[in-house]
Amino acid sequence: MVSMFLKKRSLLFRLTAMFMAVASFSTLITLLVMSVYQINILSSAEIRRVNSLAQILAPNVTASLIFNDKETIHELIEPLAHQDSVVMVSVIDEQGDEFTSIDIAENAARLDKQALTKTEASLEAYDSYYGSLIIYTDDSSIRKHVSFYLIFLGAIFITIIILGFFLSLFASKRFIYPILRLAAVVNKVTHSHDYSIRATFSSFDEIGDLTKGFNSMLETISLRDNLLESTVQQRTGELKKANIELRDQAYKDSLSGLPNRRYIYELINEVSKNSETHTFSLLFLDLDGFKEVNDTLGHDYGDLLIVDAAKRIQAIINKGDTLARLGGDEFTIFLENVVEPCVIESIANRIRYEFNKPFLIRDESVHITASIGASSYPECGKSAEEIMKKADLAMYDAKSSGRNCYRFFHASMLEKLEAKKLVISDLRQALKNDELELFYQPIYNIETRKIDKAEALIRWHHPAKGVISPQDFIPIAEENGLIVELGNWVLQNAIANVRVFRQNLCPEFCVNINVSAAQLKPEDNWLSELILSLDTANLGANAIAIEITETALMTDRKKVVEDLRLLKEKGVEIAIDDFGVGYSSLSYLQQLKIDIIKIDKSFVQQLGIDSAGTTLCKTIVQMAKNLNIKVVAEGIEDEIQLEMLTEFGCHFGQGYFIAKPAQAQKFETFFHSFKPAHITPRNALKEDALL
Ligand code: C2E
Ligand code: CA
Ligand code: CA
Repeated sequence: MVSMFLKKRSLLFRLTAMFMAVASFSTLITLLVMSVYQINILSSAEIRRVNSLAQILAPNVTASLIFNDKETIHELIEPLAHQDSVVMVSVIDEQGDEFTSIDIAENAARLDKQALTKTEASLEAYDSYYGSLIIYTDDSSIRKHVSFYLIFLGAIFITIIILGFFLSLFASKRFIYPILRLAAVVNKVTHSHDYSIRATFSSFDEIGDLTKGFNSMLETISLRDNLLESTVQQRTGELKKANIELRDQAYKDSLSGLPNRRYIYELINEVSKNSETHTFSLLFLDLDGFKEVNDTLGHDYGDLLIVDAAKRIQAIINKGDTLARLGGDEFTIFLENVVEPCVIESIANRIRYEFNKPFLIRDESVHITASIGASSYPECGKSAEEIMKKADLAMYDAKSSGRNCYRFFHASMLEKLEAKKLVISDLRQALKNDELELFYQPIYNIETRKIDKAEALIRWHHPAKGVISPQDFIPIAEENGLIVELGNWVLQNAIANVRVFRQNLCPEFCVNINVSAAQLKPEDNWLSELILSLDTANLGANAIAIEITETALMTDRKKVVEDLRLLKEKGVEIAIDDFGVGYSSLSYLQQLKIDIIKIDKSFVQQLGIDSAGTTLCKTIVQMAKNLNIKVVAEGIEDEIQLEMLTEFGCHFGQGYFIAKPAQAQKFETFFHSFKPAHITPRNALKEDALL
């Protein structure tokens, strides 16, 4: 408390103390100087006075000394004894002996002659020396005088100090207190940030002006503060709103209004982290054929389909379950506390069942199905990534099992994934190490009974696993994207081989190469690569034909039309591979000006066995003829199939009955030895003959 008081009043006290110290010091110095000065003045005046008294008395004392009159001398020097400062008066004769003296009794104690002041007057008459008059004085009278003087000055000094103290107190109260009060208010405002506090106006002077100015400054700050506060409140409100909207956007899929990928990941992480006892399952759902809808009907149809599909799924699942859209045509369903395989399967089957009904999008009936995979916690994994990955793997397995399927995750799916990874890394090595080779299978011209075409089919001579069929690595390369590099390798080798075939077999010889849908992506520049290679090879027209599947044509329609037009300009024929298993839309055959269709071997192999298959083959041939499109029948394995196809008017035939795919050189040997008569059951080439 005291220290606070002292601290608060420190300025006042410091000022007063300073003021007092300066006053005291200067007065003391003055006092000291004055005292010394006074002592000096008084001492020299006293010496002069005693000296003149001695001089005055000297002639009479001399006369009395001459007459040896001690009594007279006593009388003469007696008055000196009454002087305050005189301690002893002594007369000495010419021999230096004391003739007489007056010793002032009360001053006897002071008779230390060394400390006394000695005034000597020589007693002389008629140039003769008779002795000396010696007066001993001390400074007691001076000291008395000076003491009085000092007491007087001291009184003045104390009066000045007291006056000064009160004066400084008055000055402080008058001038410093208002400043201190103002300082206290400033301090309070600074600490409390309360700008409504005001300083009290105390006087009409500069301090009053300062108080007024300070108060008006506080008024301005307070106004600004209020304004700022209301602006901040408004902005905070806006920010909170924006934050909620942002959060909403961050966790919501804008198209379907469903929770999004991030939401579901956080949900799974939350549930799997916070509870040991909780269980749940995850369904991973991918729409089959969604890309085709997007490509054929347009993206707005695709968007509406997503919304409708979401509604359909939502209607099936329970309220406590969470449906989220992961992106594209992928959905996931979080089933809390559901892990029984039969329950999960029944939900998946209900979805599949509901998807069998067509969707009506803007009067257009759209058919899609769903491939569904599932995994559960904690059996399949501990983290959201792991559970999601396994449900995705199961979905992928369902898709590759022919779409519209349901699969629950199994460890073998991971093994398959690992095996695929191995295939890809081995395939990269194969491209570098020259482990790949093109085999050629003749395409027999039924009308001319000649062979002027062959299909290039890739083979992989794996150093450890032996020959690997394209069916075991092409789909994996397609998934991975390595098919682009592989496709280029096929093209370069087919060009090299066809050049030889044109020299050795026939100048119009044509090699068909297979092109995957994955190679037709616009960003991969497949077409320009092909055209450049053909131009560089300078082979002439119809040296290379391409075989693409119907699904490949479904991708980016406009781009495909443009690409195929450019290819035709370059003299490249286009064949539709595996015709009949895909969409088999007649309209695109005309629109894309397709040259050849290849009837899939699954239909050819039904010839003579199944009447529906037979009718289908016949119809395809007739329809193609009407559209001026040539037909190749694939997979002819016996004479009956060939005979029937010849009867239908099919243009070309390909299959083991004619020849199996073989290395380029063996193919050349076959070509040279080939006679149409060979194509009879008796003479049909044995499979191994070419291999
Ligand atoms: P694909 O284009 O339909 O080729 C015809 C497949 O049928 C070939 O199988 C061929 O060996 C087989 N084949 C021919 N005649 C008969 C027959 O009489 N009976 C039976 N059962 N099969 C016959 P392959 O060589 O195993 O090729 C399989 C698939 O791999 C090809 O089917 C094609 O889609 C793909 N493929 C092969 N080479 C390449 C390539 O260089 N690039 C691309 N993208 N795909 C290729
Ligand atoms: Ca083919
Ligand atoms: Ca085929």
